[in-house]
Amino acid sequence: MKNLIINSLVTLVAVALLFISGGQKSSAIRVSLNDTSSATNRSAQYDDPYAQFRNVRYSNAGLLNERDEIKLGAQLHREVTKKFNLTDVGLARVERLGQACARSSLRPNLAYKFHVIQNREINGFSLPGGHIYATTALIKMANDTELGSVLCHEVGHVVARHSLKTLKKSREYDDIANSLGELTGVAGSIARDLGVALGKMGGALMLTVHTREEEREADFLGVRAMPGASLDPQGMITMFQKLLKIEEQHSDLLGSLFSDHPDAQERIDNTRYEIARMKRR
Ligand SMILES: [Zn+2]
Repeated sequence: MKNLIINSLVTLVAVALLFISGGQKSSAIRVSLNDTSSATNRSAQYDDPYAQFRNVRYSNAGLLNERDEIKLGAQLHREVTKKFNLTDVGLARVERLGQACARSSLRPNLAYKFHVIQNREINGFSLPGGHIYATTALIKMANDTELGSVLCHEVGHVVARHSLKTLKKSREYDDIANSLGELTGVAGSIARDLGVALGKMGGALMLTVHTREEEREADFLGVRAMPGASLDPQGMITMFQKLLKIEEQHSDLLGSLFSDHPDAQERIDNTRYEIARMKRR
């Protein structure tokens, strides 16, 4: 009996609450209707770490044209071969995974060239014209999907023309662009002029330094290229997790290109976000 009274009291209170909230609801709806579009846009941009990279169309417009980009890449690759020892060890694997990323990227028609550098640092980088490098230490610690995630990320830098954008900002840009336009071979006075201008700019390694925004963009382009390359995008997450562990224990083994990147935990979160989003579509 006591329960019954309590129950009906609860019901009464609940019904009363329903009315009150019903009344409030209509005014609440009116308020939110007024600013709903701006509020949802704002929150979508806030939640989506890659909002500014979606629907971007990539091209060489306003930068070196593709033919000169390829010539520049050949020149810079010569510089890399002088500085580092290239090896065939693991090259077939890097080539197979890398070409799959390239074909699945937003710039599939460029002739990409993959290279392995003998080095104890875990590192990967790319240069204009589609030259992409992985160190022996990197290919040793990463399984196929993890290595694929790094290569897809590097292809992403090439897709977004990040090095060309860096070059454009350099003081030597006009000299370099003019030399490239006239350059027909790797020898001769024009090649020498180009070499001097590139040296002044800081050389190939200058063009491998990227901003955090560019790294985020390459992560975005990379993870999105992975399914089309028959790579499980989860590999990007386990790669970051491995890097996080190494960062804690042997940070000296991490090449500058990884240690300069955005915070690994943030990259893991962003990648998780994108994988969930890809699954929804
Ligand atoms: Zn990068």
